[in-house]
Amino acid sequence: MIEEILPGLYRIEIPLPKSPLKALNSYLINGQERFLIIDTGFNRDECLHPMLASLKKLNVDLSRTDFFITHLHADHSGLVATLATETSKIYFNKVETSIVSFEGSEGRWDGMFAFYLSNGFPLDEFKKAFESHPGYRYSPRKRVPFSVLGEGDTIDIDDYSFRCIETPGHSPGHMCLYEPSKKILVCGDHILFDITPNITWWPELKNSLNQYLMSLGKVYGLDVALILPGHRSRWDNHRRRITELYEHHRERLSEALSALGDGAKTAWGVAPYITWDIDCKSWEEFPPTQKWFAVGETIAHLDYLEADGRVRKDTKNHKVIYSLV
Ligand SMILES: [Zn+2]
Repeated sequence: MIEEILPGLYRIEIPLPKSPLKALNSYLINGQERFLIIDTGFNRDECLHPMLASLKKLNVDLSRTDFFITHLHADHSGLVATLATETSKIYFNKVETSIVSFEGSEGRWDGMFAFYLSNGFPLDEFKKAFESHPGYRYSPRKRVPFSVLGEGDTIDIDDYSFRCIETPGHSPGHMCLYEPSKKILVCGDHILFDITPNITWWPELKNSLNQYLMSLGKVYGLDVALILPGHRSRWDNHRRRITELYEHHRERLSEALSALGDGAKTAWGVAPYITWDIDCKSWEEFPPTQKWFAVGETIAHLDYLEADGRVRKDTKNHKVIYSLV
C-alpha cells in the first residue's frame, strides 16, 4: 500500500506477517536526483516483494537511492543489504553498526542466552523464543558499508533538510529525523501511537528506561506538525503521546514494585505481575518470543528502580534476584 503524504513524500506499508506490529511504515522521499528510503522491513520475501512492487509503481531507481535506518531492529533494517546498490549511501548510527547484521554478531546471541537464563527464563522456553525471534531470523545476513551520522548531522534531499536527533532507549543508537521548516518528525519506534515501544535491556545501554524517558524529553519541545512513526497510524500531537508514555512507564514501575511486595523474585517471576497489551488470557499463553520481550522490558524497569535506590539486585545460585530496599 502506498500513500502520498506530502508532495514527493510517500508512506509504503510493508506487511510484517505473524508480527503483532502488523506492518512497517517505510517512507520514501522522491527527489530530483536521488531517492531516500527510510526503514525497509524484515529480510524475508513477504516484505521484499511488496517493497519492490511499490518501488516499481513509484518509478524508484535503486541505483540512485540512499537509505536512512532509524535503528537496528530487523523490521527496520532487514532489507537494506538486499535493496542497497553500490552507489547507495546507508545512513545509520555508530553504536549499532557492529550489531545490526547477523554476520559478525553471532556470539552476541550466546550472551543473550546466558543473560536471560540468569534472569530466570526457563531453558526450553528460551530455546523456542530464540528460534522464532525476528532479530535472529530476519536481520540482514551480510554487512554493508554504513555512512555514520550522529546528533545534528543533516540529510538534504531537494527542499527537505532532515536533522538527526539521537534518541537512545528503544534501542542503543536509535535516531529520529527532524525537518524544521516543514515541522516533520520521523520517529522510528521512539514514539508510537496505537502501541507502546518496547523498552528492553541492552548490553550497550545502561538503564535503558531512563535513557528512553530522557530521549522523550528531548523531542518534546520540538515544533512538530507531522509525525511519521515506524508502525501503525500517525497523529499530530506528539506531546500528548509523550505524556501518555511517561504515565505508562510510571504504572509499570509501580506494578514491578508491588510484585516484589510479597517477596524477592527474578525478572521472570516479576513479568506476569505486569499488565501487557497482548491478546492472551494468561502469562502461560504468551508466545515464547512475547515472553522474551516482556521479560526484557521487566528487566529495564527493575534496573531503573535499582538505579533509583528502590530495588536491590543480588545474584544467588547464578540467578539475578530483585528485592525491595
Ligand atoms: Zn524497533
